[in-house]
Amino acid sequence: MTYDITHWIDGREEPGTGSTQPILNPATGAQVGTVQLGDADTVDRAVQVAAAAQKEWAGVSLSKRTQILYRMRQLVLDAVDEIAAAITREHGKTLPDAKGEIARGLETLEFATSITQDLKGGFSENVSSGVDAHTMRQPLGVVAGITPFNFPAMVPFWMHPIAIATGNAFILKPSERDPSASNIIARLYQEAGLPDGVFQVVHGGKATVDALCTNPGIAAVSFVGSTPIAQHVHATASAAGKRVQALGGANNHAVVMPDANIEFAASQIASGAFGSAGERCMAVPVAVTVGDVHERFLEAIAAEAEKLVVGPGEDSATDMPPVITADARDRVVRMTDEAEQAGGRIIVDGRGLVVAGFEGGNFVGPTVITDLDRTHSTYTDEVFGPLLVVMHADNFDEALELVNSSPFGNGTAIFTDSGHYARRYQEEVQVGMIGINVPIPTPVGYYSFGGWKDSLFGEHHAHGPEAVGFYTRQKAVTTRWPAQNETVESSMSFPTHD
Ligand code: NAD
Repeated sequence: MTYDITHWIDGREEPGTGSTQPILNPATGAQVGTVQLGDADTVDRAVQVAAAAQKEWAGVSLSKRTQILYRMRQLVLDAVDEIAAAITREHGKTLPDAKGEIARGLETLEFATSITQDLKGGFSENVSSGVDAHTMRQPLGVVAGITPFNFPAMVPFWMHPIAIATGNAFILKPSERDPSASNIIARLYQEAGLPDGVFQVVHGGKATVDALCTNPGIAAVSFVGSTPIAQHVHATASAAGKRVQALGGANNHAVVMPDANIEFAASQIASGAFGSAGERCMAVPVAVTVGDVHERFLEAIAAEAEKLVVGPGEDSATDMPPVITADARDRVVRMTDEAEQAGGRIIVDGRGLVVAGFEGGNFVGPTVITDLDRTHSTYTDEVFGPLLVVMHADNFDEALELVNSSPFGNGTAIFTDSGHYARRYQEEVQVGMIGINVPIPTPVGYYSFGGWKDSLFGEHHAHGPEAVGFYTRQKAVTTRWPAQNETVESSMSFPTHD
């Protein structure tokens, strides 16, 4: 039996009138449901509902907003199994991995429960004689979030708790490939007591995204996805006068120094390269060995890759799940073929893998390739699959130059025992998030998340303090209360503070 995922507008499921798209289970290839695809009219209706709800919501006390978020946190914890099952069914990732992303998403909600601290303005008494100054932060109004398939719970959580806590109404447009988690979240917000219209979900693809980027009722757009679409969203929504943050793709490198513990580095890099089948923006698709450790590292990483059990996400024995679509699997196979034809050495070959009983699934095994030229597309392009390219540099400076030559700058890691090189790396690398002996340095919810270069368009990083800045505007107020009969001299010159 298949199910139908509808928009969630004004506190209820709203069947669309437009087209639909099948939702497929990546482990079996079978259709499990359909999702509505919204259009400009759907977006317009959601925006009108949101605008009315936001006016009321901005007047709700901070303490009441906080209580709702606390209730929401508990409801999400109670519904973890339901949300994780939906993620695994539609995305493919293992159940523990799905629960992990929910836990990481909740970090932002937990941060948002202390929004009372972050929304405090400043106050200065007597900035001039008898004059005081204070600042306050106010919501933008109606804001939208457009999110990718690979974290159907966590990435929306980077946005909605802070947007809502700061007094905005939020419209989510999740990936059409795994939309169910978003509707569960909508239902839980309602159960938590959030007024209808403050959190809504509009499903769809390009037409919905373009309508969100141009609708005049939307003040700001947060986007997370691939670089070409991030650029499109950033350009379109900026041209329509909106505040925009657009997080793009990645090609993260991990540098392995000669003094590193090679077995430790290999096991950590394997988790970065093959966890969630490499479908993480903080995945590690490139390792760079420095000096004479190349062959030792290849042996160690091959041992790690070969012991992984590939299978459906529901199976507790599975280490590595399928990729999202048959196209995504075919891309990994094609990139491996092209690397081989260009003289690349295939250390571990993931092609042709069949999982018994799941012949229709999008499975490809962990793949390790080396001896590729730095201009080859299998190295330079974002793979977004379980394919690790191992490059080599003679020394630290050469490795740093290679990492910095990538157009992406999302995450990176260095494995070393040397504080000197670790410090130089964090200072000189052109990347937003850096791990030192940590393969996936995703910042915790009370810091902000964001890359450099082609991995982020816009000034604000996601979640944490930067998101408070993104979803609010500051007002600066200057106040004087003269006594009723007091004379205050006015001057034609620009006011100075005597
Ligand atoms: P995607 O860019 O294809 O889709 C992202 C969103 O854009 C989806 O909601 C989708 O419906 C919409 N979209 C797709 N095509 C569009 C078009 N032509 N016009 C307008 N909207 C469109 O990304 P994806 O495949 O869902 O996710 C994987 C990508 O996301 C990878 O590149 C990955 O690196 C990136 N990602 C980045 C981060 C980060 O924080 N930087 C986090 C997660 C994922």
